[in-house]
Order: sequence, then C-alpha cells, then structure tokens
Amino acid sequence: MKLILLGAPGAGKGTQAELICDRLSIPSISTGNMIREAIKNGTEMGKKAKEFVEAGKLVTDEVVIGIIKERLSEKDCENGFILDGFPRTIPQAEALDAMGVEIDTVLSIEVADEKIVKRMSGRRVCEGCGASYHIEYKQPKKEGVCDLCGGNLICRKDDAPETVLDRLKVFHEQTEPLKGYYEKTGKLKLVYGQEELSETTALVFKALGI
Ligand code: AMP
Repeated sequence: MKLILLGAPGAGKGTQAELICDRLSIPSISTGNMIREAIKNGTEMGKKAKEFVEAGKLVTDEVVIGIIKERLSEKDCENGFILDGFPRTIPQAEALDAMGVEIDTVLSIEVADEKIVKRMSGRRVCEGCGASYHIEYKQPKKEGVCDLCGGNLICRKDDAPETVLDRLKVFHEQTEPLKGYYEKTGKLKLVYGQEELSETTALVFKALGI
C-alpha cells in the first residue's frame, strides 16, 4: 500500500503512521523527522532547513523533493510506504506524480484548529528515534523516556504556541489545497480525529480496510 497522510500539524499523522506501519509492515516516512535528524547532525541540508523549521515555515520544495526521491528509491519502499508530512504543497504532489509514484489512498485526518493548539502543548517527541507521544493521549510507559529506544522525550521547539499558529496558517494556505488535488483523483478519504486516540485509529484502519 502506498499511502499519503494529510492533516494539520498535530492532527495525529505521525502517531497513526506508526500504528499503520506496525500493522502493514511498511515504512513510515516522515520528512519532518528526516529534517530534524539532519538539523541535529548539522548536515548541509540541516543547516539550510533549520531557520525555516524553527519559524514554522516550510522548507523549500526543492530540498524536500530531493530527500523524498532518495528515500523512496531505498529497498524497503518496494512493497509500499506511508508518507507522513509529504507532500505539503501542490508542486511537491506534482513532483511525486512526475516520479511515477502511484498512490493508492490519501487519508486526511481532520481536526479543528482550536483543538490543535491545545494538543500541541502536550506533544513530546523522542530525540533519539523521533517517535511521538502525548502527555494525555499517548503516554510512554516511563515518563520522559521513549518506549522504543529509551531516548529522552522532549518538546519540539516549533510546538511553541506562537509557532503553532504560524504553522496552522501555512497548513491552510499551502497544504490544504492538496485535498482538492487528490479529490479529483478519487483517492481522498477523510477521517475525523476523535478525543480518544484508539477511536481515531479504528476509523483510520476502517477507512483503509485493514
Ligand atoms: P512535521 O514534523 O511534519 O510537522 O514537520 C516539521 C517541519 O519540517 C515543518 O514545519 C517544515 O518546516 C518541515 N517540513 C516537513 N515536511 C515538509 C515538507 N513536505 N515540505 C516542506 N517542509 C517540510
């Protein structure tokens, strides 16, 4: 299955991607995680991306398309993958089409802006492997420690309330038009994010028929 997850920052794409990845044994590819890793490692790309990410802006299409092209050519993507956070603009979607990638389903997780702002303050991410947690909705077994790799759980800089508002604006202006783009292809499915994580997951799995 080749799947795109759409949704506002904080809608739960990363969490649902991890659960789908476990169920289907296909890789979950998060451009956000890859960019954060590059920033942490101080690579050339990381240096270019840092100020955009911290300001809640999008990294340039050229950079992100390059990352995705390379990642999708790896062997573990042969049987499918989940794209979490890509594409985020129409030119990125067009670039994916131009690569000859045939997407099966585009799933949009719908969550109202007011809820997003509230949720983001409780979000935590593992600085080691990038796994996502939430202090209310998805707690780790041990506070502050990643279940998967034992890494430290931290707040993302760009989850600060003032940056979240900028990210939501960017989402509505640049990413939301992708719903229209994919609706035309008949591949778009909408799932409404619920209060309980497990309820959203049940709706996501049902929509995907898994
Ligand atoms: P995320 O973890 O998906 O919320 O991504 C965090 C940040 O990484 C975003 O706010 C952007 O600055 C950058 N980023 C991630 N994916 C993309 C993308 N497809 N296009 C442009 N910037 C991206």
